[in-house]
Amino acid sequence: MFAAGVIYRYCMELTNIGTIKDVMERNGVSFTKSLGQNFLINPSVCPKIAEMGGAGPGKAAIEIGTGVGVLTKELALRCDKVVAVEIDERLRPILAETLAEFGNIEIVFADILKTDVTALIREKLAGYDDVIVCANLPYYITSPVIMKLLEERPPIRSVTVMVQKEAAERLCAAVGSRECGAVTAAVNYYSTPKMLFKVGRGSFMPSPNVDSAVIRLDIPEKPRYTVRDEALFFRIVRSAFAQRRKQLLNPLSAALGIDKDTLRNILAECGIKPSARPEELKMEEIVALCDKISGIK
Ligand code: SAM
Repeated sequence: MFAAGVIYRYCMELTNIGTIKDVMERNGVSFTKSLGQNFLINPSVCPKIAEMGGAGPGKAAIEIGTGVGVLTKELALRCDKVVAVEIDERLRPILAETLAEFGNIEIVFADILKTDVTALIREKLAGYDDVIVCANLPYYITSPVIMKLLEERPPIRSVTVMVQKEAAERLCAAVGSRECGAVTAAVNYYSTPKMLFKVGRGSFMPSPNVDSAVIRLDIPEKPRYTVRDEALFFRIVRSAFAQRRKQLLNPLSAALGIDKDTLRNILAECGIKPSARPEELKMEEIVALCDKISGIK
């Protein structure tokens, strides 16, 4: 089923197990577990990621990890241009076959963690002011990829990614709730996270032993929060949430080298009880705390 505006073209059915096995076998490629190669075989998932990720006419998409091109194709059907970054060179002849119908896809064979995404957009997507990122991320690099895309601030509007279900729940937890961790606070600093939908393990080949979920991080044009010293903000978040069920005072005092009495006063000035636990903090309180501490440093 195609939504309005989606151009229908004849192309290979890339969620068909027989098609995937055939194209891989003919090219002598087997699944590599260490690269997180669990390919989607549920035909309803990729169209949904593309639609809910904001793919559409006039837009450009960056994909991370093509596999045999199942999501790449759905993005190319909807967006003007797709640039995909894939680490596994063995997939080159496969993608040349599976995506042969498309003239609007460019695949860059590289490690996303070593790729300058801002430069990639400048070189390959000049003129597009609406760039989205969509991916079924390999589990082993979920957090580093998300944090890289947020911290480096490339000109992108949103990041829509499939991740392990537990990671999705942590990323989309409310700051100030029991589920909140360092990554929740970090992601909320740059974006507004939203849980989109869950995907069971049976939707992949080979089937992983965990379930997944798709989340979207909307990145505002102007930063959601600003602090005087960003590095300090992330140091506070990391050290506070390293022991998120414990009281804030001790780990923070040790990590920042501030004596407990001074820190108690700073917390009070920010309206935070010295007995507070990191998981109880609101974003505004962490921001206020950071600015107060940067004032004495
Ligand atoms: N998009 C396909 C799908 O949904 O079926 C494949 C998703 S599979 C979970 C992850 C893909 O990311 C694999 O194709 C893998 O080779 C690729 N990959 C793994 N590590 C990568 C990295 N560091 N940079 C770029 N791609 C990577």
